[in-house]
Amino acid sequence: MAFTLPELPYSRDALAPHMSKETLDYHYGKHHKAYVDKANGALDGSGFENATLEEIIKEGSGFLFNQCAQIWNHTFFWESLSPNGGGEPGGDLRSELEKHFGSVDEFKEKFTKAATSLFGSGWTWLAKNGDGTLEVVNTKDADNPLTAGQTPLLTLDMWEHAYYIDYRNAKPDYLKGFWSIVNWNFADKNLSSA
Ligand code: FE
Repeated sequence: MAFTLPELPYSRDALAPHMSKETLDYHYGKHHKAYVDKANGALDGSGFENATLEEIIKEGSGFLFNQCAQIWNHTFFWESLSPNGGGEPGGDLRSELEKHFGSVDEFKEKFTKAATSLFGSGWTWLAKNGDGTLEVVNTKDADNPLTAGQTPLLTLDMWEHAYYIDYRNAKPDYLKGFWSIVNWNFADKNLSSA
């Protein structure tokens, strides 16, 4: 079973000026696509020929795990953004953020601090634990909260390739851009199905 590059949920220029078409051309069109191609190239003889991405993420390791987790993470990341995003979260998400972080602003502050202090390549997540609590977590390289038994609700790619074209080394500005296009509805939907 070959993996395919999922379609972007919006056009490549839809997130500008917070995320440029050039970034989407490279990040989606080249990086995300390369993970798909490399995963497909490594499937033969791996024992995971008929496995889903999630199965490989939970049971796989090494090169194939890295490619498959990066496919999954990027697909989840594009959904975490929206041209109609930003503003304030509503519904259950708002009350859950207030319950576990004190307020939406305190959540955003905690997430921003985690993301900007992540050393090296990785991802910052809002995730739900098995006991129902919400947590901000950083993962290294391709890793994601599924391997720790957590349910991802929202993510931000903190690999340098995610922000260097638009923001160079200015991580705090990348985070400001993120809050302008964050897809709260996606996180709320993930929360209600978690
Ligand atoms: Fe990336």
